[in-house]
Amino acid sequence: MFFKDLGLSAELLRAVEKQGYSKATPIQQQAIPLVLEGKDLLAGAQTGTGKTAGFTLPLLQLLQNKYSGGEKSYPKVLVLTPTRELAAQVHESVRDYGAYLPFRSAVIFGGVSINPQKQKLIKGVDIVVATPGRLLDHVQQRSVDLSRVETLVLDEADRMLDMGFIHDIRRVMKVIPKQRQTLLFSATFSNDIKKLASEFLQYPAEIQVTPENTATELVSQTVYPVDKKRKRELLSEKIGEENWQQVLIFTRTKHSANKLAEQLGKDGITAAAIHGNKSQGARTRALSDFKAGSVRALVATDIAARGIDIDKLPHVVNFELPNVPEDYIHRIGRTARAGQQGSAISLVCVDELKLLKDIERLLGTAIRKVHAPGYEVDPSIKAEPIQNGSNRGGGRNRPGSGGRAQQGRGRPGASGNAARGRSASGNRRAG
Ligand code: AMP
Repeated sequence: MFFKDLGLSAELLRAVEKQGYSKATPIQQQAIPLVLEGKDLLAGAQTGTGKTAGFTLPLLQLLQNKYSGGEKSYPKVLVLTPTRELAAQVHESVRDYGAYLPFRSAVIFGGVSINPQKQKLIKGVDIVVATPGRLLDHVQQRSVDLSRVETLVLDEADRMLDMGFIHDIRRVMKVIPKQRQTLLFSATFSNDIKKLASEFLQYPAEIQVTPENTATELVSQTVYPVDKKRKRELLSEKIGEENWQQVLIFTRTKHSANKLAEQLGKDGITAAAIHGNKSQGARTRALSDFKAGSVRALVATDIAARGIDIDKLPHVVNFELPNVPEDYIHRIGRTARAGQQGSAISLVCVDELKLLKDIERLLGTAIRKVHAPGYEVDPSIKAEPIQNGSNRGGGRNRPGSGGRAQQGRGRPGASGNAARGRSASGNRRAG
């Protein structure tokens, strides 16, 4: 189905065309008409499916139908995201798709100075894309009035719950109108998500574009069994021999992200690390250098990488398997986006065999194993317990939290929520 058949205005079609798209993805085909009808939506879609345009385009259309854009702006559309990176990306889409419309937008997240955001909000905006913590700071300081919001989007709602944002979401709900349109996007549907949906959505239309927890079939997945201490060597060799120019590499902890980036640098591979302890400036710079090709390897923790969207990213490497099997799907979803081919390789040592099993159970299939010549595993090495990522390198200031921990105000219940269902098995994640 083509965008021109979806009832979008000439201005929006022109913006879509400028992005180089003519055919709508499945989520867009389904979501756009429902959002235009004003329905609440419960959508199962991972990043990479084109979901952002799936809600941005019809929401811009609804604004265009109702407002001329000349009047003093106030927030009519609010998009909440779990991380700064995702907020920035959604905002970029709002700007791209709204390029020929008169609406104003702002992106609001923590870790950067609050004052420029305040000025922008006070001047007036129609669309706010925000992480919950910093948005609430603005509400408290009265730099934003959300009492006339017409549409709320909860993007990557599963991740927001994972990160302990439920209390902040509830606080936001209290300051926006009860009568509104609500769209909830989530990659997975846990009971908590279903509960959230039943609480905040009204008679939602339900759509699902990829079967729950199914990794995209366009990603070729391979496991390389290798001893822990030889992983870096094997990785450098693969990057060099196969001449990879752009590879996103995942580690479990901030500490190993830093260490690996440094070691790759010594191997002559330009690398940068991103994680929750890096300043927003450093993260933005690393990401843009990686996108521009001046950094070949970007080493990231799960939370920092959430929402990263790189066109045609060819390679994803799991240098360490994630503690939470669903994260494997999120990770490999960074490649093979929007119909491109991609490869995901996992370097798996004896400590991680149980994690691998859990992932394969979730996928419902075994992942192909390839033994790299010269890297035979040493059978005398015994498995050691995997260190809890959250013990390493701090980890209190999560992305998107608006630096509130630093302001000494804390977040009631946040740690409890982030740990829920995971701490029992020592499976807390580090950002
Ligand atoms: P998303 O799932 O929103 O993160 O989008 C994933 C990627 O798909 C982004 O790079 C989009 O720019 C791209 N994209 C969105 N819509 C389309 C489309 N209709 N055709 C091709 N690519 C698209």
